[in-house]
Amino acid sequence: MPYRGRLAPSPTGYLHVGHAITFWQAQERARAAGGELVLRIEDLDPHRCRAEFREAMAEDLQWFGICWDAGPDVGGPHAPYVQSERTARYRAAWDELRARGFIYPCLCSRRDVVTAAGAPHGDTDEPVYPKTCRPAAGTVSPAEEPTGANWRFRVPDGETLGFMDGRLGEQTAVAGRDFGDFVIWRRDDVPSYQLAVAVDDAAMRISEVVRGADLLMSTFRQLLIYRALSLEPPAFYHTALLTDVTGRRLAKRDAALSLRALRATGVTPDDLRRQHL
Ligand code: GLU
Repeated sequence: MPYRGRLAPSPTGYLHVGHAITFWQAQERARAAGGELVLRIEDLDPHRCRAEFREAMAEDLQWFGICWDAGPDVGGPHAPYVQSERTARYRAAWDELRARGFIYPCLCSRRDVVTAAGAPHGDTDEPVYPKTCRPAAGTVSPAEEPTGANWRFRVPDGETLGFMDGRLGEQTAVAGRDFGDFVIWRRDDVPSYQLAVAVDDAAMRISEVVRGADLLMSTFRQLLIYRALSLEPPAFYHTALLTDVTGRRLAKRDAALSLRALRATGVTPDDLRRQHL
């Protein structure tokens, strides 16, 4: 399989230096393998995504020296490259997961889950779902399906999942302990990140996913989706997260670290690469 990587930004804010450094590594790995790079816009959340961020994103990526071979502006064999235009594909995957008994409807609110489950794992991951709505076996019959529910994936409790990360080596997690039943489709009719990303990476024939290590636990969830849909997972390479001088992780909310703000102060892409790579 030829190397194909991807850049998958969400237009929920301005790109910051952490994104740029991760995308740079994605580009370097694609180049080293003589492969190609796909730009995919992950704009599924209508409450958080904005057109102005999407426009800014393309400009910031280009300023940083990142080029792509397929994407919304250039097209390509797996178009469309904008997730909000791909919902029929996610719906088909949802149907299949439901028909195979992997998912069930859940009426718990976010607050119910947090209250029942206690503290989340680490500072980046969600709490383990306490299985309040999980049916004893399989899923519920169509006649009993409530409306306005979240749909959750039933994880195989106690199973150790593993994969070989391209940078970090062997990674393992125990389903039901390190992460719990996760949302596949939201009650406000939005497919979840986990579902959309697995469906798209498979459909676009991505051979290696390069992304930040904050998504390590999500990789295990996505591996379960691949398995449930009988899809071949890509390889994974999780990049180190950037920290500030105090060791705190950089976040999108630190406006001063956006590429725009840095550029306005006269910082160059080379400066950023020298500092962070
Ligand atoms: N769209 C996600 C984000 O911006 C990244 C998804 C991924 O790389 O799998 O956080």
